[in-house]
Amino acid sequence: MIKKLLQRVFNPGKKKTGKKPADNPHQNAQIIPRRIHGIDRKLLSSAALKTTEGLQKAGFEAYIVGGAVRDLLLNHAPKDFDIATNATPEQVNRIFRRSRIIGRRFRLVHVMFGSETIEVSTFRGSHLAESDHAKTAESGRILRDNVFGNQEEDALRRDFTANALYYDPASEQVLDFHNGVADIKAGVLRIIGNPETRYREDPVRMLRAVRLSAKLGLKLDKATAAPIPKMADLLKDVPESRLFDEMLKLFLSGHAMESARELRKHGLHHGLLPLLDVVVEQPVGERFVNLALKNTDERVLSEKPVSPSFLFATLLWHEVLTAWNRIQAQGERPIPALHMAMTEVCDIQAEKLAIHKRYSSTMREIWGMQPRFEQRGGKRPYSLIEHPRFRAAYDFLLLRCESGEVPAELGQWWTDFAHADGEARAAMLLPDTQPKKRRRRKRSKPAGGSQSSSEPAA
Ligand code: ATP
Ligand code: MG
Repeated sequence: MIKKLLQRVFNPGKKKTGKKPADNPHQNAQIIPRRIHGIDRKLLSSAALKTTEGLQKAGFEAYIVGGAVRDLLLNHAPKDFDIATNATPEQVNRIFRRSRIIGRRFRLVHVMFGSETIEVSTFRGSHLAESDHAKTAESGRILRDNVFGNQEEDALRRDFTANALYYDPASEQVLDFHNGVADIKAGVLRIIGNPETRYREDPVRMLRAVRLSAKLGLKLDKATAAPIPKMADLLKDVPESRLFDEMLKLFLSGHAMESARELRKHGLHHGLLPLLDVVVEQPVGERFVNLALKNTDERVLSEKPVSPSFLFATLLWHEVLTAWNRIQAQGERPIPALHMAMTEVCDIQAEKLAIHKRYSSTMREIWGMQPRFEQRGGKRPYSLIEHPRFRAAYDFLLLRCESGEVPAELGQWWTDFAHADGEARAAMLLPDTQPKKRRRRKRSKPAGGSQSSSEPAA
């Protein structure tokens, strides 16, 4: 009984299903041996190896696929390993004790080994067969494509030839259905199939083309690049949350500068972020954005943490400045005007990019603290320096100085102040010209109604 059970657990694929065996799915693949591809098996994570071994032992096919194979061929360290298999999610789940099925429509399995998680997906087929599992919008955009298929079909629905390579660590062979190895060796990023159809199916592929070519130093193939400017508008139909995730990947890849330049070159910047739309046309704005991107790239490359809030605060700052000036020119006082400008910019972005509240509240703090750096007398600098966001707001101020928006002397003053001790700090203070905070008059409680508190003075 137990033996039977174990057999069922470990060999679920051996169960007779009555299905006819698939045609040989490898017949259209080039089989590339180690001698040619040169991938060093030692660069694989042990979790990835254990996952392919576990699946293969249970009688299934299992390959490392996608970005990891591409990165290994390019001598980049892969940041994660994805695995493709002919086992269903339930079968994968039964093989690995520490695994769980995730996603409802698009089901994958996460297999956990220590702190590493390996994503295992079942070979997927064409989205064209309209069913409960596959659906396409009138525009050609894929709404659902969770149909199982064979390996050849799985390769066909991937985006670029370089991303459709399957590496079997056991045989050390790479299966290549679309000439991806040759493209990588030639330094080319090429979309699989008809570029226009593939962008219509999923417009995010245009952003991926730009991001991956910038990140990997691959040149976009001519036919892959050609339709992008005229199809850029299709990005409008993509759900904002997906667009936001892609923008984060783009800007936090360590190649933000290059990516931004490429986005512009391919006409993809319109409507994505106003920074790339308008700001680049203003010399100070462009300088500020470039400095912010350079700063982010340097942090990513030296493995320092980068905060999306800080990055987006920089990217949108010149939008805020423009609105701030406009609202002040209409007669509003500076601080309320700044808060109105921040709300305006965040509202526009929330519509376009779904910048999450979690990020936008930090962005607002960073922006809102900027005028407080001008106040260098009395007790104010002491309380500002104790603010939990001081470091981020100060880094932001330094970028403003470097871009020429505010005098360098202001940033230097704060650097010195932060490093000085008690007495030196006191000696640095400037005459306090700011009006003292008005004390609130004690009022007798209004009958019934609650008191509304006003925005704290900045
Ligand atoms: P990165 O290094 O940024 O992770 P990646 O290519 O691995 O790049 P993922 O988003 O991790 O990107 O996707 C894994 C794989 O899934 C890709 O290599 C590709 O084969 C496939 N893929 C991802 N997005 C798409 C898409 N929009 N259309 C078709 N295939 C895709
Ligand atoms: Mg990846």
